[in-house]
Amino acid sequence: MSLSQGSHAIVVHGGAGGKPEYKDGCERAAQRAVEELGISGDALEAAIAAVTVLEDDGRFNAGRGSVLCLDGETVEMDASVMDTRGRLGAVACVRGIENPVLLARAVADTPHWFLAGDGADRFAAAIRHPLWNTISEHQREQHRQVREALAGTAPAMPGVDNQAFLRFWNYRSAPDLPPGAACDTVGAVVRAPDGHFGVAASTGGSAPSLLGRVGDTPIVGSGFYAGPAGAVAATGIGEYIVRHLLAHRVYTWIEDGMPLEQALRRGIELFDKDVDVGLIAVSRTEAGAFSNRDMPRARIGN
Ligand code: ASP
Repeated sequence: MSLSQGSHAIVVHGGAGGKPEYKDGCERAAQRAVEELGISGDALEAAIAAVTVLEDDGRFNAGRGSVLCLDGETVEMDASVMDTRGRLGAVACVRGIENPVLLARAVADTPHWFLAGDGADRFAAAIRHPLWNTISEHQREQHRQVREALAGTAPAMPGVDNQAFLRFWNYRSAPDLPPGAACDTVGAVVRAPDGHFGVAASTGGSAPSLLGRVGDTPIVGSGFYAGPAGAVAATGIGEYIVRHLLAHRVYTWIEDGMPLEQALRRGIELFDKDVDVGLIAVSRTEAGAFSNRDMPRARIGN
């Protein structure tokens, strides 16, 4: 692939269904990505830098702000990274660590691309990855809202009977749910001036969730994809997104020459209106975002 010096572009999102007033967090994250481009010039490092800002923010469903699983105690996080230099790494269901996106970055340097659960936690311990075990009041409030949604008659997750979460309960403690999905996952896509692309994403998962649940965020081609024609990240309810291999599908449309905005819109139109979904992307010449819900976001460059 021959790459020539060009302009950079960064797009950051704070989750389909996220609060628009969290936009300031996305703007800070995008700014951090610009600074990283000034230091390393590397698209993936810039995308990761943006995502770490959002993981540390505490308001987004990633890193320190991750939603609690249904037991109200456990946080399980997923993250992923990919670029056009061949780096690919992901983690799923990791617990008690800071910045899962940095752990995904570390996995990309191992012989594997994806570590999950206990093995991923052991890998984090082996490389002395920093720990984070604090549950904030914001996380507890989110959990209260999820429990309230489950107690209502509308499905807390579209198309799923609320009772299914009780029927398939897989926690040690007895179910005590009083029979809203929480999204706010974060992601960033970057085109560096050297023409390389990078994508990074991180989530506490889509609530409500059983233990061990994995959505689209760490699944290559579903939640994220980067190739010579661009980079794409998805957000929304992973159970639906994976069925469309959404990020790769949108990528192929962009690669085939479809205008970026049209590709994003067409990707969202694959879904029922009840399903929260959002996309961000950069191509060789364009950058943008599209969602069927409010989605805090920021863009620098195009
Ligand atoms: N896609 C994430 C998941 O299903 C959630 C989100 O984007 O908000 O785990």
